[in-house]
Amino acid sequence: MKSAREIWETALGELQVQITKPNFDTWLKDTIGLSYDNNCFTIGVPNAFVGEWLNNRLRSLIIKTLVSIIGEDTDIQFSVHTGDHSITSPIPVSQTDGGLSSRVRAEVFSSPRLNPKYTFNTFIVGNCNRFAYSAALEVAERRAEHYNPLFICSSTGLGKTHLLQAIGHITMNKRLGTLYLTAEQFTNEFIRFLKEDKNEGFRNRFRSVQVLLMDDIHFLSGKGQIQECFLHLFNELYQTNAQIVITSDRPPKLIPLLNNKLRSRFEWGLIAHILPPEINTRLAILKTKAEERGLKIQPEVLQFLAEKVQGSVRELVGALNCVIAYAQTNKTNLSLCLATEALADMTTQTRNATAPNLIIELVAGYFGLTPEVLMGRERDSKTSLARQIAIYLMREESHCTLAQISQELGNRDHSTILYNYHKIKEQLKTEPEVRSQVAEILQALKFTTKGKSLWRIFGK
Ligand code: ADP
Ligand code: MG
Repeated sequence: MKSAREIWETALGELQVQITKPNFDTWLKDTIGLSYDNNCFTIGVPNAFVGEWLNNRLRSLIIKTLVSIIGEDTDIQFSVHTGDHSITSPIPVSQTDGGLSSRVRAEVFSSPRLNPKYTFNTFIVGNCNRFAYSAALEVAERRAEHYNPLFICSSTGLGKTHLLQAIGHITMNKRLGTLYLTAEQFTNEFIRFLKEDKNEGFRNRFRSVQVLLMDDIHFLSGKGQIQECFLHLFNELYQTNAQIVITSDRPPKLIPLLNNKLRSRFEWGLIAHILPPEINTRLAILKTKAEERGLKIQPEVLQFLAEKVQGSVRELVGALNCVIAYAQTNKTNLSLCLATEALADMTTQTRNATAPNLIIELVAGYFGLTPEVLMGRERDSKTSLARQIAIYLMREESHCTLAQISQELGNRDHSTILYNYHKIKEQLKTEPEVRSQVAEILQALKFTTKGKSLWRIFGK
């Protein structure tokens, strides 16, 4: 008889081909087979949340896989396993989170309800959002001090609110005083209290907060008095070790008209960027969203949608809903032909490519260099990195050929350009520093128009 560990290794091999890679990497990769007795297989998981997720989402698939390997009926249970020898008691299976969480919150605050669908379970993880996802999960589970504040940023529709509320569901389940609100709601409340001359009352509302989840902080741009108030609140909460999580459509240094103290506090903790989903994640999202609606959609239709809709998750899901509705109204099957028809106008909305010289200017500005240096022969580490990032962005954002990039960058060798492009592409997967640099430049690209002083954006 094989050991539990060996059986589970075999099972993992089979599960790997049955679920998406991002899901496998996130949920199964760090699990191990702990024991098998009395027809019950115990799987070691790194934390309770992973156990719950696996139990809710993959239970039957795991059982089926194990039965086919062991050859007899078996049940499964999950156990938190933090090292080779320390095993805690099995995780109680909890299926719900709605009732308790809303009750706890209602007692303490009258903050807006959280969307019950915005949980970690329903968030699909890919390279574009893995870092933000892990940081959010870490904060929800451990409220790690070095992640305070956690600052999540991305352009719209990429899952910031979803992750923020997912944290809220968990912390409320733990009965931590959790307050979720948007910066706009914060502003409205502040004004309301101010009108009634109840400034103290406003501050008191936040006294018992242990987890503050503030959505869309960029809304505070230019609102000096409200920023002041938020700064005090931030300081008070920070001193009491409350966890603060903030989202924004751009990184702190690109929020215009923001109090410098506030800006620097936002940069104290961890800044996590979410990038637009890459093709595999787009496919995984479409598959899951179709399954959630109980629909079986042909793979080629999903592939078509994933290729055509390259913007936000919101647009992607919108496109899926659009073709489903189209098929339903026409009372026909959702074929590739029909999907093409339904998306006819969407497909024409391809993004305008960015001019390569704008990328050079912006990247140079970001690194405190001039475009001439980037185009020149300097090879110190900063200039080289800046040049590599510019190459990567010219290829990805401007869709330049190697010859065009070579020309833009002072006639460099094509093979060097290709090598540098792949180098950054690989580093984006492994190096958070490079990832956030690229993300910040991309964000800046979005908010930049030619003619505006690019240097000012980075304060250089
Ligand atoms: P943002 O706050 O960044 O504008 P949202 O969190 O509102 O974006 O996300 C937009 C929609 O896309 C929501 O319905 C959300 O559930 C969904 N969504 C975004 N990212 C993901 C993801 N990785 N997995 C599943 N759904 C997602
Ligand atoms: Mg949002």
